Amino acid sequence: MSLKDSAHRLAREHLKMDHDGKAHKVPALLTDLRTAVTPGRNSSGGGASGPPIPIDPDALDLLRNIETEARKDYREISGECWAGELEALLLHVSGLDLTPEWSNYLARVWLEWIDRIDAHLWPVKPRRKLVGKVCPSCGWATYGEERKTCLSLGCWDAEGNMRAIGTWDIECASCEASWAGEQVAWLLRALDTPEGANVAHVS
Ligand SMILES: [Zn+2]
Repeated sequence: MSLKDSAHRLAREHLKMDHDGKAHKVPALLTDLRTAVTPGRNSSGGGASGPPIPIDPDALDLLRNIETEARKDYREISGECWAGELEALLLHVSGLDLTPEWSNYLARVWLEWIDRIDAHLWPVKPRRKLVGKVCPSCGWATYGEERKTCLSLGCWDAEGNMRAIGTWDIECASCEASWAGEQVAWLLRALDTPEGANVAHVS
């Protein structure tokens, strides 16, 4: 992703592909992150007499890290301090004629910000563990000293919504066997899982 693309997603309203396959207009990632810092904040600014506003400390840390790093990089690039807002700074820097070194460095760092904001705002749901079910490939239900569950079901999309059943997958963390497509519904039924009962009528 180019610096301009990254700056666009971080600092401007942009289009994002939703799980329904359509593009929707979403706020700048930094706007979403600021909203996450003070979820109770309202547009009128609130009053000193109002109830305390809950703060998401991780979102605040991330926002401060980004702000500090962006201003430091700009000082090193230009020899000047940026007096304006962070969003305006990123858009400005993405339009500068940078050396290849700076350009490559910032491209990597900004992409990392995008990933970290994404991960904070929309944490990926963990795979569903198939507790107590024996892997048909290696014959174990648990593995390792901590007796972790072998089999897990992948059924969430990036937004945390359930995917269509035909796109689910099952993996064994012990022997690394995996199943996909129609095999999944068959295996869930063979293992006698609640998910198997739910998909029974599908295929
Ligand atoms: Zn296995």
